Amino acid sequence: MNTITCRCCGSRTENILDLGIQPPSNAYISTKACDLMHEEKFPLGMVGCKHCGMLQTSYDVSPNLLFNPKYQYFSSISNSWLDHVEKTVGLLETRFNPKFVIEIASNDGYMLDFWEKINILAVGVEPTMAPREISLSKGHKVIGEFFSEDVVQQIHADYGMPDLVICNNVFAHVPDIESFAKNIINLISDDGTIVIEAPYAENLVKEMQFDTIYHEHYSYLTITSVSNIFNKVGGMLYDFDFIQTHGGSIRYFVSKNIQEKSHGLLNQLKYESKNGISNISYFYSLSEKLSLLKSEIIDLFNSFKKKDLLVAGYGAAAKGNTILNYVGLNNTNIKLIADNNPAKIGMLTPGSHIPIVGIDELKELRPDVVIIFPWNIQTELVNSIRANFDYEPDMIVLVPEIKYL
Ligand SMILES: [Zn+2]
Repeated sequence: MNTITCRCCGSRTENILDLGIQPPSNAYISTKACDLMHEEKFPLGMVGCKHCGMLQTSYDVSPNLLFNPKYQYFSSISNSWLDHVEKTVGLLETRFNPKFVIEIASNDGYMLDFWEKINILAVGVEPTMAPREISLSKGHKVIGEFFSEDVVQQIHADYGMPDLVICNNVFAHVPDIESFAKNIINLISDDGTIVIEAPYAENLVKEMQFDTIYHEHYSYLTITSVSNIFNKVGGMLYDFDFIQTHGGSIRYFVSKNIQEKSHGLLNQLKYESKNGISNISYFYSLSEKLSLLKSEIIDLFNSFKKKDLLVAGYGAAAKGNTILNYVGLNNTNIKLIADNNPAKIGMLTPGSHIPIVGIDELKELRPDVVIIFPWNIQTELVNSIRANFDYEPDMIVLVPEIKYL
């Protein structure tokens, strides 16, 4: 399905960025010849709508294909994320005093755990099998489907209306974002609150976070675009917070009824309008900046080759796959990538087919250079190399620019 029309208002979109043809970023692949032969690739890019400020992928891959039984993203694996979630639960409890919470995309129960600790009824919705199984094994109540109108009815019939609905890093992961928003509005009680966390699209340019563009992320959200989506379905964005997760995100507060918009929200809407974020002109520079970075990365790897340096990676994150496939790097440039997720070890990175190993194997290899792909946890990974190695390899991040750490 080609999404040249805007998901939110149906207007014609403009091309902003083309990242080529790429496999889905979380489609880690086995070394079996048949899997390698049948690796699927799709156009990857970003388009935008001048009319309502919506930014979205240029091509929609079916969610059934992306969030399939092989989906191996477990929220509980990151300690810094768990700290953030514990604080969020405390903050939401104090501000809203909820009686019944629904969390959409509850993954492995990483947040349901904290609600249970304070004795508040919380039910998850999670379509992916492996994370859901973990959540169920901890005794959580989880609906194993994609969030839909039917799921809304099921929740109402089984539990009643929730007064708090949480959507952490899922709102940008659905192709039909308007129906999704409408279903949440129908789900919540009249005096309830919807809390959404999503990366802030301004950082695509400001921090060059182009590597967060991959098929799973159908939309790239701003205050303006989220406000427009909820206006269309009978809800209202009335407040927000800046948060540090995923390299700079926004926590949106939406209600079913009219509320006074906070000063902060009104100011940020003005800021987006003044800087061309709301009419997408702000994003036009991204393509040129990225072409420059690509040539610099290619020069860097050519210089490694000339000096005959052994290069490895650390952190086989989805965002790393966008860079590898956009620049055209593969296992001839990077010998292997270490990762802490046991589900990824023994697999190959999608498209670039670089073997993924545990940290011990990286240590044994004794590389001259280690590329750190998940820049958002670079300190954690650099410290881990310093603690594990008896020498210090050159450690480099590629985003927002090439930098030796
Ligand atoms: Zn639009």
